[in-house]
Amino acid sequence: MDINKVGVIGAGQMGNGIAHVMALAGYDVVLNDVNQDALEAALGKIDKNMERQVSRDLISVDDKAGALARITPSLEVAQVGETDLVIESATENEDIKNKIIEGLVPHLQPHTIVTSNTSSISITRLAARTDRPEKFMGFHFMNPVPLMKLVELIRGIATDEETYQTCLGVVGKLNKTAASAEDYPAFIVNRILIPMINEACYALYEGVGNVASIDNAMKLGANHPMGPLQLGDFIGLDTCLAIMHVLHDGLADTKYRPCPLLTKYVEAGWLGRKAGRGFYDYRGETPVPTR
Ligand code: NAD
Repeated sequence: MDINKVGVIGAGQMGNGIAHVMALAGYDVVLNDVNQDALEAALGKIDKNMERQVSRDLISVDDKAGALARITPSLEVAQVGETDLVIESATENEDIKNKIIEGLVPHLQPHTIVTSNTSSISITRLAARTDRPEKFMGFHFMNPVPLMKLVELIRGIATDEETYQTCLGVVGKLNKTAASAEDYPAFIVNRILIPMINEACYALYEGVGNVASIDNAMKLGANHPMGPLQLGDFIGLDTCLAIMHVLHDGLADTKYRPCPLLTKYVEAGWLGRKAGRGFYDYRGETPVPTR
C-alpha cells in the first residue's frame, strides 16, 4: 500500500521528532495536538533541529524548506483522518490514548493504517478500541528520533501482513532499521534495557558499588557509551520505574521487581536530568554523583 500522507497525534518530545523525519523523507505530515502551545513549540524545535542538520551538511537548505512546508499543524483530529498512516504519540496514558482512538475512528478513511508509539501499553488492547485491529500496530521510535536508527514494529494479535509490510516500507524510507517484536510488555529494547538499569540500582542499593564505580565499570568493562545510572537519569527515573511496573505486572515474575532505591528517588522527585537531580546532581557545572 502507498503511503503519502502521515498523521502524527501528539506534538511532544517524540511527536516533533516523528514529524521531522517523516517530512524529510518526503511524506506530507499533519501534526496534531490538543494544545496550541505544544504545536508551536514543536514547529520551533523541528526548525532548530533541521537547522543543526543543515549546519552539519547532513541536509541542504532546500531539504529543510521543503520538509517544513510539508508539515501542517492542526488542532483538529478530523484532519488526521485524511492521512494514509496515523502514528499516535500522545501522553503515555491508556485513558488518553483510548479517547484519542475513539475520536479518530469516525474520521478515518477505510484504507488508513493506525499505529501507536507507546512504550508500554498493549498494542492488542489499543487495537481492540478501533474498527480495524488488522490495520493497527506498534510503531515504536527511539529518542531522539532524528538520531536513533531503530524502530520497533510490534504486531498485535490481529495485525495483518499487509499492514506490517507497509510499515516496514516506511521505516526503510526513513533510512532506519526495524526490529520486529511481539506484543509483550515493554517489547524488546525496554525489556532488556530497563531491567539492566534496575539491576544497577540494586548494585547501588546493596552497596556493591557507588554511582561512579557502577557507571565506570559498565562504560569501561562492557564498552557501553553511558553508564546505566547516567542512562537512567537521561531516560527519566519515573519512566524507568513505570516500565518496571509494567514488566512486573504484565509478566508476574519477581525478577522484575522495581528496586526500592529507584522508587525512593522517584518519590523524592529526583527524576534525572529533566528534574536537575537523579543519580547525579545536574545543578552545577558538571554532574556530581549523589552517592
Ligand atoms: P510528551 O509529554 O513530550 O508529549 C505528549 C504530547 O501529547 C503533548 O504535547 C500533549 O499535549 C499531547 N496530547 C495529550 N493529549 C492529547 C490528545 N488528546 N490529542 C492530541 N495530543 C495530545 O511525551 P513523549 O515523550 O513525546 O511521549 C509520547 C509517546 O511516545 C508516549 O506514548 C511514550 O511512551 C512514547 N515514547 C516516548 C519515548 C521517550 O523517550 N520519551 C520513547 C519512545 C516512545
